[in-house]
Amino acid sequence: MEDLEKLWQKVLSLLELEIPKASFHTWFKESKIEKFQDGIVFLRVNSNFAKEWIENKYQKSILCYLKNFNDQIKSIKYVIKPALTIEKEANPKTKIKLAKAIVNEDLQPSLQKINLLPKTKLNPRYKLSNFIVGPCNELAYAAALAVTEKPGRKYNPLFVYGRVGLGKTHLIQGIGNALLEKDKSKKIIYTTSEEFTNEVVNAIHYRTTLELRKKYRNVDLLIIDDIQFIGGKERTEEEFFHTFNALYENNKQIVISSDKPPFSLVGIEKRLKSRFEGGMIVDISQPDFETRIAILHQKMKENNIFLPEEVVEVIAKNISDNIRHLEGSLNLVYNNLKYKKIPPTKKNIEEILNSIFKPRKVIKPQEVINTICQYFNLETSKVVSQSRKKEFVHARQMIIYFLREELEMPYLSIGSILGNRDHTTIMYSLEKINKEIENNPLLEKEINEIKEILYQSE
Ligand code: ADP
Ligand code: MG
Repeated sequence: MEDLEKLWQKVLSLLELEIPKASFHTWFKESKIEKFQDGIVFLRVNSNFAKEWIENKYQKSILCYLKNFNDQIKSIKYVIKPALTIEKEANPKTKIKLAKAIVNEDLQPSLQKINLLPKTKLNPRYKLSNFIVGPCNELAYAAALAVTEKPGRKYNPLFVYGRVGLGKTHLIQGIGNALLEKDKSKKIIYTTSEEFTNEVVNAIHYRTTLELRKKYRNVDLLIIDDIQFIGGKERTEEEFFHTFNALYENNKQIVISSDKPPFSLVGIEKRLKSRFEGGMIVDISQPDFETRIAILHQKMKENNIFLPEEVVEVIAKNISDNIRHLEGSLNLVYNNLKYKKIPPTKKNIEEILNSIFKPRKVIKPQEVINTICQYFNLETSKVVSQSRKKEFVHARQMIIYFLREELEMPYLSIGSILGNRDHTTIMYSLEKINKEIENNPLLEKEINEIKEILYQSE
């Protein structure tokens, strides 16, 4: 019988043609024919889940191709072997590579590597080719692809909406990167509505509106992210409306993202909304389990990290509402397993995940006051009094900061529990401390320490 590896490669090359790329990658990446015996092909896959999936969806095709190449083959059996386990990564070279890939345990590790293309402000990491497609985003993806094929002609504007962390920025920047790849001379601008607002404000201030108009009306593709923040900013809306029209009339492509569909956007002028509605509107929703698995695989590949399939499944099962969290969890679990040498059991992984996503403890205002007074070793009655002594004022400001920023209390209530101060005093103090935080690292340290005490004590 011919080489099993070659045989499997031939089958894979056919399967690849009929299976969506992401699924193919997910299910067949580490697959292999282990052995062939008595008419049975023993196919190695990396999880029970993969086995079930392949059995249900692709077994017919696989068997058909196998029989085609070798008529002795009668059936398939599965052997489940995780592709790589943590312990197996003994090769020191790999270790270095892995260690480099992990920047820290931050929820957005990838942000640290961002290397923006100077003119377009596009992040080259966000490509259509590494955007995983599933039922939650397939329409959005198809529309994005169509836009790159016929920019300004087919879907104009393309309006993508969905909740935070579901891939809007990735997808719309992917359009820009794809277009640029096809044609380097294309003029593309990616901006957020907040940045655009700043530019308009500056242009008004420095009387450079004409330059601003020239900049934005001269592009082949304008991508504007998070348009919802434009609401209520009249001059910005006005400027955007005219930019939109100018581009549209010249068949230049406009791509917009938002957290809501046009009709639910609050505070945005009707005429602008109806422009948005004149194009293609697509949504991105929460990814299903299979898509989450595929995304995790993609992120592991990009970051050069490996986790056993069982572990990947536990992460995908537990984190479903936000892809940024999914990515963050992947890194967190990876770091914990690798550096803290925690065995990769389901229970351990769920514990790791819970540590970041568990609901925060509810804290009462009095607890905040007591904790902060204790922290600074001051008497509560003095802190709440009218005393202007520096140390009391500082502790008082901290209390205000916590009551407002952490407990989200109204200014009025903060004032009344702090010795009946009026709400403007509270607002003023808060402003002051927020400014100080920016310039004083010590203050940040204090805040973090207090936070730790508050949230840890049961
Ligand atoms: P949004 O703009 O909707 O808040 P982002 O585009 O910033 O979301 O996505 C958050 C993170 O999730 C990014 O790192 C992005 O690469 C990743 N992500 C989202 N959707 C996908 C996808 N379909 N395939 C691969 N990565 C994705
Ligand atoms: Mg975004």
